[in-house]
Amino acid sequence: MTILSFFTRASRAFNGYPASSKLLLLCTLSLSGGGVVAYSEAQVDASKTSVQVNEKDCKKKRVVVLGTGWAGISFLKDLDVSAYDVQVVSPRNYFAFTPLLPSVTCGTIEARSIVEPVRNIIKKRNGEIQFWEAECMKIDAANKKLFCRYTVENNLVGNDEFSLEYDYLVIAVGAQVNTFNTPGVLENCFFLKEVEDAQKIRRRVIDCFEKAVLPGLSEEERRINLHFVIVGGGPTGVEFAAELHDFVQEDLINLYPSVKDLVKITVIQSGDHILNMFDERISSFAEQKFRRDGIEVQTGSRVISVSDKEITMKLKAKGEICSVPHGLVVWSTGVETRPFVKDFMGQIGQANRRVLATDEWLRVKGCEDVYALGDCATINQRKVMEDIAAIFKAADKDNSDFLTVEEFKDVIDDILERYPQVEHYLKSKHLRDVTDLMKDSEGNYIDKVDIEGFKLALCQADSQVKNLPATAQVAAQQGAYLSKCFNRKYKWKDNPEGPRRFRGSGRHQFHPFQYKHLGQFAPLGGEQAAAELPGDWVSMGRSTQWLWYSVYASKQVSWRTRVLVVSDWTRRFIFGRDSSRI
Ligand code: FAD
Ligand code: MG
Repeated sequence: MTILSFFTRASRAFNGYPASSKLLLLCTLSLSGGGVVAYSEAQVDASKTSVQVNEKDCKKKRVVVLGTGWAGISFLKDLDVSAYDVQVVSPRNYFAFTPLLPSVTCGTIEARSIVEPVRNIIKKRNGEIQFWEAECMKIDAANKKLFCRYTVENNLVGNDEFSLEYDYLVIAVGAQVNTFNTPGVLENCFFLKEVEDAQKIRRRVIDCFEKAVLPGLSEEERRINLHFVIVGGGPTGVEFAAELHDFVQEDLINLYPSVKDLVKITVIQSGDHILNMFDERISSFAEQKFRRDGIEVQTGSRVISVSDKEITMKLKAKGEICSVPHGLVVWSTGVETRPFVKDFMGQIGQANRRVLATDEWLRVKGCEDVYALGDCATINQRKVMEDIAAIFKAADKDNSDFLTVEEFKDVIDDILERYPQVEHYLKSKHLRDVTDLMKDSEGNYIDKVDIEGFKLALCQADSQVKNLPATAQVAAQQGAYLSKCFNRKYKWKDNPEGPRRFRGSGRHQFHPFQYKHLGQFAPLGGEQAAAELPGDWVSMGRSTQWLWYSVYASKQVSWRTRVLVVSDWTRRFIFGRDSSRI
């Protein structure tokens, strides 16, 4: 066997071996001791959940998926494509592993190492998915039709616009950068949302250094070119600041020694702390680390405009307005709904909402057969108080107008599944189960309650309803969940698995979506990271950085990108980052 054919075969075996991608065991050698992290990619084998299509139903229903990000790809990966005519529309013919985008801005990882072509993913599904590289411009909800356009500017022949009809529509188009209409942001700031954004930042950072060392500049001019400003102290802004600091300290000051003392990195945050969505210990650890590293954290400041030379902000405490000159501004302050989704919301009676609302089964409210998941939608959790009378009536089996402990226990599981906020409420009050809520007005435990007592017991539970964060973790879990529902759509019709319907008869067809938080990371540079792990665990330092490496390597969508990412990290360890302006 020639070497070439050996590699071809080895590569095929690697790609086609399902079990190998299910478990990745990575040894993480922490400086504090060392340990082993095992991470399972928990993929569903779609062949095992095949859909029993009704024999009459010989024409397959068409499912159109909009978007090839976390939600869309995770839906497609597990969907039983033999049961549907699946068509995908996205202006991006690849999936991007966004959590590693900040590493692309400084060349720690190359852009192509974190993307997987959609057509590679489709190929693995025996080509039963059709992909159209185009942008959806409009959804016609009444006629179940989409209007799409090829968006890349070119002079190729043919029509750029087309329409598509759907039976089921899955909207997974993510969100766009939110500038809060701040003047000058669109024209003068860099963003960190797409792969192209990260590549632009990488080039600009090098530009700033090359410009700063040109002859004939004053020291002040060199300083301005090397002032890097990050607006937004969330995970993305903080991670970029940390990456940039490492790039400067580990690579650039050796290459540009004459300006090494002139570099400044500033993080502007409107709130009182950076990383304020994390545990307090993490946000103060990050602030202390940044202080030691010389990264300036300016909290309590709201940016009011950005020009090509200056960034102007209002200091909240004093009400003062100040302007600082900059070489680069990266805007990373949050996301908002895309305009064509806003238009769709107008058609279905959601015009007053900020984000497209779905129910707990990810079905768009007010529109049949349309689903939305990931950053473009939010689940509108049903309140327990809206159904309280119906729950009481359903639970009171003997129509005595009182609920006994036994009657209450009979419906507890359905209540907890349908209204997960009740469980959060019990946890927050350190109660073991719902029957602990059965108390009279003096606070004594009782063995039966009337409707007023029942209302009193649950009236505060709805305060625990929380919106899910706009993260890859949520999007990916929603995609996997929805594909399971689609795979069982016909089989489960006469065999519903969900909680009972309190306002009506029978049960819901499926379990509602339930998010499992697996923890979140905040890499802080200098081989240190912070992590919030399940069970309110907080971990910080070098060993957490190794945990980060292992989790992010295992989370890659393919073995190809996994190998590329790990080899980029190795390359960086050995040779440092590449500072070529390409
Ligand atoms: P996206 O992944 O944004 O995908 C949207 C898709 O829709 C894209 O393919 C896009 O091309 C396509 N699309 C856009 N417009 C149209 C249209 N008109 N028609 C058809 N298709 C369209 N989350 C974490 O959990 N952990 C992290 O560490 C983390 N780090 C991040 C770092 C950065 C720099 C960024 C930007 C985000 C990070 N996130 C992280 C958040 C995470 O990336 C998002 O929550 C996630 O991408 C949302 O998935 P989605 O599928 O809803 O949208
Ligand atoms: Mg009763």
